[in-house]
Amino acid sequence: QLSKRLKTIADYLVEPVYFADIGSDHAYLPCYVCSRNSEAFAIAGELNRGPFLSAQKEVADNQLEDRIEVKQGNGLEVIDERVNQIVIAGMGGPLIRDILEEGKNKLRKVSRIIAQPNIDARSIRRWLIENNYNLVEECIIVENGHIYEILVAEEGDGLENYNENILEKQLWFGPHLLEEKNDAFQMKWQQEKEKKQQIIHRIQNSPFPDESKLKIFEKEIRWIEEALTNG
Ligand code: SAM
Repeated sequence: QLSKRLKTIADYLVEPVYFADIGSDHAYLPCYVCSRNSEAFAIAGELNRGPFLSAQKEVADNQLEDRIEVKQGNGLEVIDERVNQIVIAGMGGPLIRDILEEGKNKLRKVSRIIAQPNIDARSIRRWLIENNYNLVEECIIVENGHIYEILVAEEGDGLENYNENILEKQLWFGPHLLEEKNDAFQMKWQQEKEKKQQIIHRIQNSPFPDESKLKIFEKEIRWIEEALTNG
């Protein structure tokens, strides 16, 4: 049974599906997509030998070798001109950003980027703006107590869906997520607020409280409180 997280990612792929799953690990996502859609093709890319071998085995067990190519390589170096969309999921935002940045000359034929950062989605939102990709959709879900954000981007001017007056906040919370404020969003930012309150408490109780750090955390808490209420 595929996780809700990976199923949600699969739902963002568009026809015709020729996607690369970068950092595919067991290749669960390509196997799920290609076994349900007989027209779909995929590349499962893996940097590391162990996960690369697991991916090969999973693809063979599912008899999908004719439509899923398992390749060992770093980031986007595994993709070719047939790939029209990429998924990079289950890694930190800064690593996903670095993979996009290092491989950006391979993205010419890629019309959709689906990213699921485990932390720091902001670094990806920034990269997308700087590289002219519009954040067309976002979602936030909870699974087994973990909260996941999924970002979907397509070529454009980069700034669609942003408002320059609240750009920093939108980068943090996600422009679409901030509009919707669903239960997962409330849960995530309530947790973040509590973490920041604990940090503030520790700073205040230290022998030499760092006032500038305190100010930053206090501002962030104010932003979170606004986001959790009206906006
Ligand atoms: N994408 C799957 C998911 O979301 O369930 C697996 C996520 S797993 C935590 C991250 C995988 O990314 C690991 O298997 C790791 O070997 C791989 N990885 C890390 N850096 C990579 C890179 N630069 N290029 C390709 N794969 C990478």
